[in-house]
Amino acid sequence: MKAWFAIDLWKRVLLGLVLGTLIGLAFRYGLGPERGSELVTTWFKPVGDAFISLIQMLVVPLIFTTLVSGVLAMGDPKRLGSLGGRAMAMYMITTVFAICFGLLMGTLVQPGAGFDTSIASTTDIEETRSRLAANAPPGTVGEQLMNTLLSIIPKNPIDALARGDVLQIIFFAILLGIGIMMAGEAGKPVEKLFASASEAIMKLTLIVMETAPLGVLALMAWVMGDRGLSVLTVLGKMTLAHYSACILHILFTYGFIVKGVLRLPLLPFLRGVFDAQMVAFSTSSSNATLPMTISCATKNLGIGKPIASSVLPLGATINMDGTALYQGLIALFAVQALGIPMEPSMYLTIILMATLVSIGTAGVPSVSLLLATTTLSIVGANPEQIVLIIAVLFPFDRILDMMRTVTNITGDLAVGTAVAKWEGDLDEDVFRAKDPV
Ligand code: ASP
Repeated sequence: MKAWFAIDLWKRVLLGLVLGTLIGLAFRYGLGPERGSELVTTWFKPVGDAFISLIQMLVVPLIFTTLVSGVLAMGDPKRLGSLGGRAMAMYMITTVFAICFGLLMGTLVQPGAGFDTSIASTTDIEETRSRLAANAPPGTVGEQLMNTLLSIIPKNPIDALARGDVLQIIFFAILLGIGIMMAGEAGKPVEKLFASASEAIMKLTLIVMETAPLGVLALMAWVMGDRGLSVLTVLGKMTLAHYSACILHILFTYGFIVKGVLRLPLLPFLRGVFDAQMVAFSTSSSNATLPMTISCATKNLGIGKPIASSVLPLGATINMDGTALYQGLIALFAVQALGIPMEPSMYLTIILMATLVSIGTAGVPSVSLLLATTTLSIVGANPEQIVLIIAVLFPFDRILDMMRTVTNITGDLAVGTAVAKWEGDLDEDVFRAKDPV
């Protein structure tokens, strides 16, 4: 037992991931798709669901307590403005690069060329139609963005906490922190309360992280046993384009930020974010991964708590590079599969729209496909064609979603590292502790 806990967490999580994948595939291909899927759903899914609930349980108390105490630790509310501005600018810039990588790989690999869209079954098409109708966002993209901005102010903070609305919680926590600061001596007891509560929740997060190897194993066994690798045969080129675009974006864009801009070694960064990446990969949800993301930021990368607790929750909600990248790829997939002529100016429109739509939604599984309606309509697909393309992609989305989510949270951590360094709140000794040289 002691020897197990002495192994680096990322190695244990990796072991869980590999074992889970193998177990899932063994069930599916050893016992047949139906029996295999049934067994992994009975045995592994409940363990995976328990793990997701366990980490989700931390999201609200963790953001709330660490952000209030983070604002207080910062001492000067004006610093919030500068770090918020820097984070937002970086989020936008990295998102634009991500979409360019999606468009690049979509052009090189041509995932939709010669694709037979008639593989979509009538049931898939009907299901997609009703799913899209149920989730149809009201109004135009501009109106949606306006609504998102307005809804940041919570009418009732307790309700925001109860619903787990991350942006509203951020808004209230920052104002509460400022209020406590302004209260001076009278605010000290509450300040202490939040400082102590945030320490306790951070410790709880560390305990929950220790369950990640098992949780990741169970989730991977379930996903692989239930879905198998059919995505590779049906959407092989799409998977190739998507995974390679995400990996290129992680290595080049974030690599450039860490090495080129911040002058820090890249390997410790990649190793430091690995635990969170594995959790993102197996859960497909940046929101659920948030406690792991915050913990990796403070424990492995040396990002100060005030930065980690503000920049990362904001990023999990509005900065979704993998999601944006995928919008570019879906657009090209559709254009190629449906034979729609593509004007060069459309690339710019896609970049703009994909940036906007990725900001306006939360990081939950498969949200990308719902966003795709907007992206597809701007490349000229008609409503029937939009339903068809989404119906083709939907049954295989999970495996693609896993990589998008990894990219989404890695982007948050790269921007978090940059903002921390610029704000003088990056403990480089902690960051470099993982440097092998
Ligand atoms: N699953 C992704 C996330 O949580 C969102 C998406 O579907 O692209 O970050």
